[in-house]
Amino acid sequence: MFFRLFVLALILGVAWQVGWRLWRIRQKREALEQTHANAPKQGKMLRCAQCGVHFPEQEAVRMDDKVFCCTQHQILFQKKSDSDSSH
Ligand SMILES: [Zn+2]
Repeated sequence: MFFRLFVLALILGVAWQVGWRLWRIRQKREALEQTHANAPKQGKMLRCAQCGVHFPEQEAVRMDDKVFCCTQHQILFQKKSDSDSSH
């Protein structure tokens, strides 16, 4: 009788440990999924008019209605449009 109770307690103990660990893993995974889901909401993505790369709106270099990933590409785009108009 006592041995059966001991085995039952052991099984319950193991089940508790496994269940608690699984719960912790699930909590971690849910937190990770939430941070992933929130990532695209942080800022709008814009496309560089010079190289076509996508970058966050807060890093944009603006000129008229165009946006660029960096000032170098803004200058390149200006040079390109200048040479186009001179022809
Ligand atoms: Zn660019």
